[in-house]
Amino acid sequence: MREYSARPQVERGEAAFWHRLPEGAAGCDLCPRFCELAPGERGWCATRYNRSGRIWAANYNWLSILQFARVESIPLAEYLSGGAVLKLGSFGCNFQPPGGEREQFGAEAGSGRSIYPRDIVNICMNLAPQGLVGAAFAYAEPLLWYEFVLQTAMLLKKCDMRCIVATAGFVNPRPLTELIPYLDAARFDLFSFDPLFYRENMHIQFEPVLRSLKLLHDSPVHLEVATPVIFGKNDDPIMLAALSAYLAEAFSPELPYHLIAPQRELTEAEKERLMQCADAAGRNLHRVYLS
Ligand code: SF4
Repeated sequence: MREYSARPQVERGEAAFWHRLPEGAAGCDLCPRFCELAPGERGWCATRYNRSGRIWAANYNWLSILQFARVESIPLAEYLSGGAVLKLGSFGCNFQPPGGEREQFGAEAGSGRSIYPRDIVNICMNLAPQGLVGAAFAYAEPLLWYEFVLQTAMLLKKCDMRCIVATAGFVNPRPLTELIPYLDAARFDLFSFDPLFYRENMHIQFEPVLRSLKLLHDSPVHLEVATPVIFGKNDDPIMLAALSAYLAEAFSPELPYHLIAPQRELTEAEKERLMQCADAAGRNLHRVYLS
């Protein structure tokens, strides 16, 4: 029998989804890795650890980055255009990013600082007269910052401010279902439509990702899907045609879809490839954005 902490009254820093195991061990139920942690151990994502037979969120009030940004920078192309948000992130990653770089998300950044949900909401409220519409949880995987994001999202909702997440969706259904009522918009990263790509490059299963995408789509949350392009890995137009065909058929040809290019100067060959990818996606989806 699994025991879940009471939410949202979860004690500060205690994880919301876990269960006890024999001999002081505890199992994490936040994501499909289902790490089983002996006392003192940390999970694969580095955000959860076992202290005294209970699981705690090491990133609970740890802020790694906070910026003011336009909603378009998330990117969301069809939501509150021109609005400004507080864009923030902590640390933690439960998959291997296909371009490498796991290290920058997998452990506490030395420059982080302590912050609480009410602080975020106070900043948002104070800057609302200047056009700030709410907060966007981005950078490292926000669903691994779960307790902080949920508590902040609940406070934002009470203040009639918006809450946005940018997620890769590798999370269990129950945590996501409990968060959805407090979300307003989501950018969902769908890196590929090939389960083998997810398995070999990201070391995760594809099915839970699709399950999260469906949960978000079937909710009132404004949803835009994005494929961060990694040249040589997920830029095959045939795969992108299959991905876009799936999105059009399972959801809608009107679903906003982004191809996100690497943030650097592209070569002519890369620009050409990106256009081929956009053409492939555009065969099935009507609203394709190059971001
Ligand atoms: S959230 Fe982290 S600790 Fe929990 S199961 Fe996933 S990888 Fe493991």
